[in-house]
Formats: sequence, structure tokens, C-alpha cells
Amino acid sequence: MKIQANDNMAGESPAVRRTVRRGWLSNTVSKKGCNVLAWSIGMPNNRCPFASIICRQYCYASTGQFLFHHERYAENYDLTTKPEFIETITTEIVQFTENHPDERVSVALHEKGEFYSVEYLNKWEEIVSATEDTTNLNYFIYTRAWRNEPFRTTLEELAGKHNMVRVNLSTDSDMVAKYGMPNPIGNGLITYLAETDDDIPPPGVDLVFRNLRMPHNGTLERLGGALVCPYESKIYIAQNKNGSPALGNGKCKPIRCMECRLCIDRSMGEWDSVKAQYVGTPGEPPSVVEVPQTGLNQEEN
Ligand code: SF4
Repeated sequence: MKIQANDNMAGESPAVRRTVRRGWLSNTVSKKGCNVLAWSIGMPNNRCPFASIICRQYCYASTGQFLFHHERYAENYDLTTKPEFIETITTEIVQFTENHPDERVSVALHEKGEFYSVEYLNKWEEIVSATEDTTNLNYFIYTRAWRNEPFRTTLEELAGKHNMVRVNLSTDSDMVAKYGMPNPIGNGLITYLAETDDDIPPPGVDLVFRNLRMPHNGTLERLGGALVCPYESKIYIAQNKNGSPALGNGKCKPIRCMECRLCIDRSMGEWDSVKAQYVGTPGEPPSVVEVPQTGLNQEEN
């Protein structure tokens, strides 16, 4: 199925009409950046399948702005069970890429929620297939479903079939103790949710997420041998298109996923070669202040 955003919408389902009005995906999650569409679903009874004890205890998606969107996430879940799910989401993604032809657009699964059945996971395979020819688009996944064999096999098939998909496998100390370290899928990362900054990840972990349910005052580039998410490390800042620091209220914004791209499509080696351009202190005024250009007469004086 190939869908163009400007296909005739006459006769579309209520769900498709609704897509045009407010969108099912979100690109306003501050960590990700405006080129990243995040997909979230509210699981029934707020229980993600495959959630570990640590995951349940420290779930970032049960705090902050997520609390204001319960209804929206419940509607998103409901949509996944409907026949129009694939067409609705495909249309929205294609429309977004067409509206941003000069940008690299990424879709994040899941900002909140989890693959709750192989059937649902296969629906995403259909969406990816339907958007495969969109050159400025890719997908990245975070999942704990790797510990279930049918899900893992389906995830492997998804990544094997589509270069535009990166499958990152989420772990923490509870999962590693119970199920061991997973083998990566394709070029996907093994990520680790650290309970504290003393929770050293085991060998094989590529990327650490800090526990955002507790305050972190200090910077942290690595934990054990693994890189800390650059946004959460507090040592990298976002940039405008011209390379100047992106500011909010005169202070440097933290780097966003759309620049970091480690979870999306960037290798660790590539990050090492580009990270210097993002060094700065989030929340501080920029250290390099751009001097306004003086007029020719002033220069001559
Ligand atoms: S590592 Fe980079 S891409 Fe991944 S969550 Fe952190 S900022 Fe985003």
C-alpha cells in the first residue's frame, strides 16, 4: 500500500479526518526535536508488557507532561485496534515528510507504551513498507519485547527487511539478572536504564539512560564503559541551522535527538567525530557570544 498525503480524502473514516485536525503523532516532545514524530500509546491499566521492576518503578512516562495526555494516549491505543490504523498513521507520516522536504524526519516508537502483540508489531511493518520510498524518513524503536521469542523474531525480520528501521533493545539491571544480555538486532543499540549514577551497566551496553525520577546535578559523559545519552549527560547543547547555540530565554538548550541521532541512525564512531560541535552547558548562557557585525565606516575609523 502506497499512500500520498494529497490522496482524495473523500469518504475517509472519522479517524483519518481526525488526523488532519490534530495529528496522532507528536513532534513537540522537547528531548526529541521538531523533526522527530513520537508515537505513544496508553496501555490498558497502565501496564506495559515486558516492563521490568525497575522500568515500572522509574517510568519517565508516568511523570511531567505525560500526565496531561492520558486521554490522547488512550485514543492512540484504541486506534491501533481499528482497521484504519495503518492508513491513518501512514497518511500522517507521509504528510509530515512532504511538509518538511528538506529535513530528515524520524519516527520514534514508542515514546510511551510497548508492542503489546505480534499482530500490532506487524501493523508497524506495514506502515514502514508503505513509506519505504520516502527518502527523508526513518524509524527508531525502543523495546523490551526482545525477551519474548516471537517478538524478537518479528523485530529481527523488521530490521532485516528495512534499512530505515533501527531496533534498540532496552535493558536494566533487573532484566539483565533475569534474562541475560540480549544480542543486538542489526545496527541497533543496547540501552540501559541506570537506577542511579552508581548503577554500572554490564559489558555490551552501548547507551545509558539516567533515572529521570531523581535529580542529577552533575554532568556524566560515561557510566562504566557506556556512553550516557548526550541529552541527559548535560554536556551538549542544541544548535540552530547556522551552527549557533539554540537558545531559550537567553540560555543554551540541551542537545536534542534530531541532532544527536545516536538512537536513530548514527554510529558511536560518527558521534565521536561530531560531538565537539555540540559541547556547551545546557541551561547556561552561551560561552561564545556572537559579536554583531560593525558597519564599514566604523571599521575604517
Ligand atoms: S542518545 Fe541521543 S538520540 Fe538517543 S535519546 Fe539521547 S539524545 Fe536522543
